[in-house]
Amino acid sequence: MESQIKKIHQQLLSKQISCTALVQEKLALLKQNAHNTVNAVLDETALALAKKVDAKIENGEEIGLLEGIPFGVKDVYMLQGTRTTASSDLLKEYKASYTATAIQKLLDAGAIPLVKENCDSFGHGSSSENTIFGAVKNALNPELVAGGSSGGSAVNVAKEYTVFSIGGDTGGSIRQPAGYNKVFGLKPTYGRISRYGLMAYASSTDCVGPITKSIEDLRIVLNIMSGKDVKDQTSYVSEEISEEEHVSSSPVKTVGYYKNFIENDAIDKEIKEAFLATLAKIKAKGIAIKALDFFDADILVSTYYTLAMAETASNLSRLDGTNYGARLEGSNLKDTYSITRSEKFSEETKRRIVGGNQVLSQGFSDEIYLKAQSVRAQISEQFSKDFTTVDMIVSPVTPKNPPKIGESLKDPLAMYLSDAYTVGFSLGGLPTLSIPKGTSTGLQITADKKKDAEVLQFGNFLNDSL
Ligand code: GLN
Repeated sequence: MESQIKKIHQQLLSKQISCTALVQEKLALLKQNAHNTVNAVLDETALALAKKVDAKIENGEEIGLLEGIPFGVKDVYMLQGTRTTASSDLLKEYKASYTATAIQKLLDAGAIPLVKENCDSFGHGSSSENTIFGAVKNALNPELVAGGSSGGSAVNVAKEYTVFSIGGDTGGSIRQPAGYNKVFGLKPTYGRISRYGLMAYASSTDCVGPITKSIEDLRIVLNIMSGKDVKDQTSYVSEEISEEEHVSSSPVKTVGYYKNFIENDAIDKEIKEAFLATLAKIKAKGIAIKALDFFDADILVSTYYTLAMAETASNLSRLDGTNYGARLEGSNLKDTYSITRSEKFSEETKRRIVGGNQVLSQGFSDEIYLKAQSVRAQISEQFSKDFTTVDMIVSPVTPKNPPKIGESLKDPLAMYLSDAYTVGFSLGGLPTLSIPKGTSTGLQITADKKKDAEVLQFGNFLNDSL
């Protein structure tokens, strides 16, 4: 698909549509929608901003490419003055007092935020059912989950309620819902975009990223949001990625895939066959295919969840009823903490806090937390080694098709295992893209650290040739 951003930019310039009419249309779609994608619509600000864009166009002033483009924001980003709930009961009434760096950069470029989007509470989940706003329904089949945790964002893009949305990806939360709703999702290299103002889940893998209908739109939005930020010491300076010419051959010589991902019993036959057929098509383009050995998917999942739970237990300890959100009074301060946290966190979030505190506690941390850290280091080393022999790694996004709404809630362990193909790349901090091609839940394309441009370039090539 062509760039939606460029198309709408042209329509605004040629006065084919007014920005106000565009924003009104999208707001109406968001409000009526039956997919539960919305935590809050931002009508007033959006319409006021649209009016300004229209005035500029009317006066013959130049407008930037993102000026007047309506977008969605996963409800885990601070956007000053808006309710920022993380889809949780605890923060249901919390209003952000500042704006996340990535979102501010989009605002500075003139993009118009329309909606705070439904997601799994604090990013905890793979189905967007762990939310006080009702399970998000899949864009293609409302009986199925939207995926998660950025489910609302992926559905809004798929249904064209937003032109693009900003999701958050800790262990797959952009790539997997993008795959389940047949749109594009990018998790950039860890640190390429500042995390400042993204509510922390697992700080060592949290990434900001776009969900769009084209790779070109991923590139445009990524360029705006990237860059070093003094407020996030893990962020780094990066070069702008220039527009890619669509080419019929690719500079990529060798593509690797993880044998054990495909030989595992957990993968659906249909996804396996589609993936193998995709490998054959890549090979037919003159690119060598290399089978690689890797850690078993269950090792990746257990390492990721050990670390993610430890980090979230630590990050969420600040939500105790004192400074942010809801507070339920107990007979003393300790009771206040426990009642607030017991009543206001969801079951899934409490499961993770309890698990995280367990692996961090004295007597267990050496055996579990530090062991997971050591496995993580080995995973990173393995990636570095693999990228000396291949240029890209491709994999399915998920082992199975999206489950029906309600199923994942009955079996959290099965839900954790469904993240088998995404979490490893998060632990490695690698740039990874999902495109809606190659298998029924998409294809994941990953390169070595900081090779975000190469990932988009190869994504373009595969998107055109598959
Ligand atoms: N499903 C994974 C988890 O629940 C990833 C979520 C995310 O990336 N925020 O941890």
